Formats: sequence, C-alpha cells, structure tokens
Amino acid sequence: MPQEKAKLKEVPKPETESDAVGKEEPSVCPKCFGTGMEYLEGRGVRPCICRKQRSQSGLIQAAKIPRRYDGCHFSSYRPTNPSQERAFKFASRLAMDYPAVDRGLLLMGTVGVGKTHLAVSIIKGLTERGFSCLFYEFGTLLKEIQNSYNPVSKTSELTVLAPVFNADILVLDELGASKPTDWVRDTMAHIINTRYNDQKLTVFTTNYLDRSGDSRDETLQDRIGIRLRSRLFEMCKTLTVSGEDYRRSFDRPLEAAGS
Ligand SMILES: [Zn+2]
Repeated sequence: MPQEKAKLKEVPKPETESDAVGKEEPSVCPKCFGTGMEYLEGRGVRPCICRKQRSQSGLIQAAKIPRRYDGCHFSSYRPTNPSQERAFKFASRLAMDYPAVDRGLLLMGTVGVGKTHLAVSIIKGLTERGFSCLFYEFGTLLKEIQNSYNPVSKTSELTVLAPVFNADILVLDELGASKPTDWVRDTMAHIINTRYNDQKLTVFTTNYLDRSGDSRDETLQDRIGIRLRSRLFEMCKTLTVSGEDYRRSFDRPLEAAGS
C-alpha cells in the first residue's frame, strides 16, 4: 500500500487553484518541490502557487488572531481624526513595504481608538503576502509562559516562546497591561530584546501614553521601565492615536453596563 501511494504522487496531475482549496497539502509540492519557487522552462522562476495557498489558510490560522477581530481589515478601518489617519497610512504602508522596512511600530493611545484593529490589519496584509505572523495579547502570552512552568502541563517555556521568537512579524497587543512585577519585566525584556537582536519586525499596541496629561496617570515608562521604553523607541516608529472610544458606544453596549 505505501508503495502505491508513493507511486501516485509521482504522476504529474494538473491542479487548479480551486482543486487545492481545503485539501491537505501534499508533503512536498510537485511544482516547486518545496522550494517555493517554480521553474518555468525557458522563462526562469516565479513564486509557486503553493505559497499563495498556504498564505490564505495556514498562515492566517497560525497567526492566532482572536475571533473577535475577524472583521478587522484595513478596508474596514474608518479614521475619524488626523492621528488615526496617520496611523492608518503608516500601518498600511508597513504591510505593503515589508520586508523593506527598518523599524516596527508602536501604537499608543487610550482604549478603543482602533490600535488593535490596525495591528490585526497589518497581520492580515502580511499573511496574504506569504509572511508568517503571530498575534498575542501580552497578558495572554505571559499566562501561557507561566503555565508552561507547571510540571503537569506538557508544554515547555520554549514551546510557547519559539513561535514568538520565530514569526516574521509579531504583534504584541496591550503592552504594559499586566502588573509590572520583576518577572513580567524580565520576560518582556527577553522577548523584545530577542526580536530586536534577530532584526525581526514587531508591532506593539499599548493603552499607556509616553507622557500623561495628568501626573496621576501612569505612563508607558512607569509600566515597562526606562530601559525597555528606550529600546521600544529605538526599534519602532511611535504613533499616538487619539479619539473617542467608539467600541463603548457601538461594539460593546453590554460591557458598559456589566464591567
Ligand atoms: Zn510549490
């Protein structure tokens, strides 16, 4: 039986795009033999169609974007003021220009001004172009790392961190939202510095501002520390996004009453 299977694979079979949708990917692509580049007799090479197919299914799943952001795309973002317009322009250009970009992006602003919407849109744009992306809410990532120390759970710290280190593009949402203990700061620094040293693109969002209008409000530096703050400013274009919390009035009518 295995013999037969192997034989079948060798038979060249024309494959249309619709044929391959929803089908399991063969272990080695018959067109490019896994290189991602298809050789065309007399015309050189071109990106293989298998890459495109992967980018539309596997890559978007691997990015682990929470379901509640399904509707977030550049096309559904509605800037309502100049700061949002600027953030939108920068984010969409980033998604087009990558990998020809030298810095990531740090979106700062209060809750509900569309920072995560833009960060998710960057991921969607880049997975469509075939790059591996990963989305993490910072608090969730910390919890998963903590759980990995639990001897009962079968994961290891590296199981959680390897994708975080390896993704071409990482979005860390809500940086600074977790209570800044020493462990949290060390873990944050480890992740951010590793990606910095590997020259990997990272997009951050945070609800904390660099300078607070009110001296009682905590700043980003209060939450992540002076060293990490300057590292972020070095590796990212920083944009402050302002505006009304549109989610409060439209998307989450129940939350205002509940929590
Ligand atoms: Zn291929």
